[in-house]
Amino acid sequence: MEDRYEVAVLGMGAMGAATLYQLAKAGVKAIGIDRHHPPHDQGSSHGDTRITRLSVGEGAAYLPIVRNSHRIWRELEVLSGESLFEQCGVLVMTSSADYDPNDQSDFTQRTLQLAKANGIEHEVLSAEQIRQRFPQFSPVLDTAVGYFEPSGGYVRPERCIAVQLQLAEARGATLLKGETVTQITSHEQGVTVITDQRTIHADKVVISAGMWSRDLLGEPFDRLLRVCRQKLFWFELEEGARFAPVSPTFIYYHGSGDEASNYGFPPLPGEGSLKVATEQYSEESSPDTLDRTISTAEARDMYDSHVRGKIAGVSARLVKSAVCAYTVTPDSHFIIDEHPTLKHTLVVSACSGHGFKHSAALGEALAQWCVQGSSELDLSAFSLKRFDGLLD
Ligand SMILES: Cc1cc2nc3c(=O)[nH]c(=O)nc-3n(C[C@H](O)[C@H](O)[C@H](O)COP(=O)(O)OP(=O)(O)OC[C@H]3O[C@@H](n4cnc5c(N)ncnc54)[C@H](O)[C@@H]3O)c2cc1C
Repeated sequence: MEDRYEVAVLGMGAMGAATLYQLAKAGVKAIGIDRHHPPHDQGSSHGDTRITRLSVGEGAAYLPIVRNSHRIWRELEVLSGESLFEQCGVLVMTSSADYDPNDQSDFTQRTLQLAKANGIEHEVLSAEQIRQRFPQFSPVLDTAVGYFEPSGGYVRPERCIAVQLQLAEARGATLLKGETVTQITSHEQGVTVITDQRTIHADKVVISAGMWSRDLLGEPFDRLLRVCRQKLFWFELEEGARFAPVSPTFIYYHGSGDEASNYGFPPLPGEGSLKVATEQYSEESSPDTLDRTISTAEARDMYDSHVRGKIAGVSARLVKSAVCAYTVTPDSHFIIDEHPTLKHTLVVSACSGHGFKHSAALGEALAQWCVQGSSELDLSAFSLKRFDGLLD
C-alpha cells in the first residue's frame, strides 16, 4: 500500500464518510481511517434515524447546508438504490401549560420565524388541527401551537455512512478500518499521520473523529469540547394504536425548560415500536467512561416523563435502547475550521448533537476546501475565532 495521499480523513462516521465520498468523486487520492468498522454503534451516528428539517431552529446559518444535504441524499439514493431520506414531514410543537406565544425563545416559535423569513413551505397548526391530523399526540392543550414542514423527515444514518463509504471506495478511495490514529504532526509540505499500524503522509488532513476529537485535536479543543451521553428508547406500540397514516418526525415541548421536551420518529414499517428520545447537556462523559447500557430505571423514567399522557398508543414495554454521544461546544454550534497549530488540517466533528442533517453537505464543502482552499458554502459562522474570549 502506498503511504502518500492528497487527503487523509481521520474518522469515517457521518462527517468523514461524506468527506471521503466527495473527495473520491472529485478524483482526489484520498484515504480514510477509522478505529472501528463504520457504520458502527460506538460513536454518534447510530440508532436507525436522524431528524432533518429545513427550518433549523438552531439558526439561519444552517439553512444552506441542510438544503445541500437534501439534494445530495437524493443523488446518493439514485446512485446506490438505497432509501436514505424519508420525507414524511416534521412537526415541531409546544403544548405546555407555561407556553407564552410572545416568547421568542420558544423553539417552535423560533422555527416558525425562521421558516417565514426564508420562504420555507410550512403550516401553522392550532391545537384542534394537531389533534385531527396527528391523533397520536394526546392530550394536546388548547393553547398548543404546531409547526409542520412537509419537506422535513428523517434520514437513515447507518445507511448514509455505508453508501458513501462504498461509493468512495468504488471511486478509488482507500479505507482503513479497525485502525486507530495515535499521532498527527504537520510540516510545511504536509501532514504525517501515525496509526497503531503504520505511518501515512498526506498533503491535507480532515479530522472528523466525533467524540474522540478532544484527545486527537489537543489544544484548544480539549478546553472547548464536552461529551454528553444521550439515551434512545424504542417502546412497543399498543394494539390498534392510532397513528396517522403518514406520521411525521416530531420535536415536542411539553413543559418549560429543555428537560420538558422530547423528539421522535414515526413507527418504522414492520417494527411496531416508537423511537423517542431526549437531550441532556449537564452531565459530562468521555469515550472511555461512557455508560453504554440503559437501565430499567432510565426506561421507566423516560416513559413516565415523556410518553405517558403525551403520546397515545405507546406501551411502557421497551423493545430496544441505545446510548449515543453528543460532542458539544460552549455555544452548542459547530466548529468547522482549520486547526490553529496543525498546518494543512481541517477540523469538523464538533456538531453539538445536531450535525447529521448537515453531514452530506459538509462533506462536499470540506472536499472543496481541500481541493480549492475554500468552500462554496459560507462556513465562517462556525470558526474557532468566536471562542477567543473564552480561551484567553
Ligand atoms: C442520540 C443522538 C441523536 C441525534 N439526533 C440527531 C438528529 O435527529 N438530527 C441531526 O441532524 N443530528 C443528530 N445527532 C447528531 C449527529 O448524529 C452527529 O452530529 C453526527 O452523527 C456526528 O458525526 P461525526 O462524524 O462527527 O461522529 P461519528 O459518526 O461518531 O464519527 C467519528 C468517527 O471517528 C472515528 N475515530 C475517532 N477517533 C479515531 C482515531 N483516533 N483513529 C481513527 N478513527 C477514529 C470513530 O470510530 C468514528 O467512526 C444526534 C446524535 C446523537 C448521539
